[in-house]
Amino acid sequence: MQRAVDLLGVLLVPSPDPASVAQVLREHGEPDVSLSAEDVSELRAAALELREVFAAPDVASAASVLNALFAKYAGPPRLTDHEEGYGWHLHVDAADDGPWGAWLVTSSALGLAALLADRQDVPGGLCASPSCGKPFAHTGGGSPRKFCSPRCATRERVAAHRARS
Ligand SMILES: [Zn+2]
Repeated sequence: MQRAVDLLGVLLVPSPDPASVAQVLREHGEPDVSLSAEDVSELRAAALELREVFAAPDVASAASVLNALFAKYAGPPRLTDHEEGYGWHLHVDAADDGPWGAWLVTSSALGLAALLADRQDVPGGLCASPSCGKPFAHTGGGSPRKFCSPRCATRERVAAHRARS
């Protein structure tokens, strides 16, 4: 799930840098990839579709966004152990060598759907900091989060304090 969130973080900017996108993929165990400009714009289009899951105001809307993404991109579920170190896991993308965009949507949607079913609530949100707005996943329990990171939470707390005094 963190892979999807990290990828959306580098893709949801006006012109994503192919090198940073490839670096995030490497950090999450994907083999060394060289991404063309088309690959990156395809990934960015996928990231924009996935952003709607994080923007959904309630669990029912998040579920219907995810269902629409499955209807558009997913193939029949299949178990695979082709990736080193992951063991058997479920894939719903149409092909192992399919386009990057469909891979990002289906792998992220599957993780988000599992999280939604597990929590019986929205699987994530968008950072409440007006200067950030990045998606984050509701993993790890604890109280519901509003911010993507401790850094954003601190910055907004300081700003709110300054505004009051
Ligand atoms: Zn943030």
